[in-house]
Amino acid sequence: MSDKNIVKMDDIVSLAKRRGFIFQASEIYGGLAGFWDYGPLGVELANKLKAEWWKAVVTESDNVFGVDGAIIQNPKLWEASGHVAGFTDPMVEDTKNGKRYRADHLAGVDSTDLNELAELLKDKVSPDGNPLSKPRVFNMMMKTWIGPVEDDSAVAYLRPETAGSIFTNYENVRETMRAKLPFGVAQIGKAFRNEISPRDFIFRVRELEQMEMQYFIKESDENSTYESWRNFAWDFLTERLGISKDNLQWHEHEENERAHYAKAAHDIYFRFPQGFKELWGTHNRGDYDLSNHQRVSGKDLTYFEQASGERYLPHVIESSVGVGRIILAVLVDAYHEEEINGETRVVLKLKPELAPYKFAVSPLLKNKPELVEKAREVYRMLKKKHGNVMWDDNGNIGKRYRRQDEIGTPYCVVIDFDSLENNDVTIRDRDTTEQKRVKISEL
Ligand code: ATP
Repeated sequence: MSDKNIVKMDDIVSLAKRRGFIFQASEIYGGLAGFWDYGPLGVELANKLKAEWWKAVVTESDNVFGVDGAIIQNPKLWEASGHVAGFTDPMVEDTKNGKRYRADHLAGVDSTDLNELAELLKDKVSPDGNPLSKPRVFNMMMKTWIGPVEDDSAVAYLRPETAGSIFTNYENVRETMRAKLPFGVAQIGKAFRNEISPRDFIFRVRELEQMEMQYFIKESDENSTYESWRNFAWDFLTERLGISKDNLQWHEHEENERAHYAKAAHDIYFRFPQGFKELWGTHNRGDYDLSNHQRVSGKDLTYFEQASGERYLPHVIESSVGVGRIILAVLVDAYHEEEINGETRVVLKLKPELAPYKFAVSPLLKNKPELVEKAREVYRMLKKKHGNVMWDDNGNIGKRYRRQDEIGTPYCVVIDFDSLENNDVTIRDRDTTEQKRVKISEL
């Protein structure tokens, strides 16, 4: 089995492309930096992952409700949230070729302090060996215009995070669901960030998908709630997705690293091929959001607690993760190269619940109609039961197994001449490569 440390990004990118997980967006036009398309297998994996998160956060919970907000909202929302003024990253430019870089990344620190970054970068050159400009801030909001006139009054933004419409719907959800504090609101959806230097495949992109949950609480419950959502993230990754604990680490944000809204922040880092990096954030946002939305909108967003007769602004604990980052983590964690009988195989040891296909069904020989017919019968039966079943009759059986190993299919079912007599099949386990005979009725 391969050492985890040697999973290379190139291996993952090439597998993703070769097997239909992820393609470059607009590939035939040379692509577009920071944008990716999910192929047939990628979309299956993403859908399963999102369904698992939704189940864990919304369906299995008594007091977390889902919403699906618009990507473009009234721009006042993003003024109130602080994004128009403060959603910035520090940037430096190569003074010769104009290429732009994240100043904190080049300096190798988690800081947004321009003076500190200027000091750290004063003797450094760009990756192309040229002098660097002074660091300055760059706003990552993606802009558009609404309606036919492209003037300042028509400016709108593509949301930089899904949280915005959760805050603006806080009162709607509370009222319509007759919710009492504490309760949460969850959302899965696209967000857009004009990242200075998108990179590392789907790790840092300009169009991303987030799974976010904001939990509205009384301030005195902040510590216990924060802990429980931190634990939730860890358990989701390790238990529900089966990611190895060796590949995960906690990282607590220092004061100068925290987002403009956060009182406290803990990230789970994953061992990506480029090193341990942020996968999932849990943040204590305090009453930052509701107090700003109350101030800017002029709407009363306070909560009346009947039991105590108190009226207050709820505080918020947030759990936020990118779908693409989890997919990359799942692929890296599952990727193994193994020696079997002197041959190397690539195998994705995905949890069966996440595998794009649960079964692949093959006739031993594709030019024997009686085998094909029987195999089709088994294929249709499994498809009815499990949905995602692949028909695979290309190449010899060994090649089919390799192909299914690479896409993480847990079981390959082969119909041979004995199957016609005995109504049984060979079923091969992806991880152990062991084969057994099983009655079709027991599949
Ligand atoms: P980073 O420090 O990596 O830029 P962040 O701290 O700005 O991320 P948050 O604003 O907390 O990230 O966003 C929540 C989650 O959304 C992150 O933990 C990550 O999983 C995902 N995410 C954020 N930015 C991107 C991006 N550009 N590409 C892909 N996923 C992202």
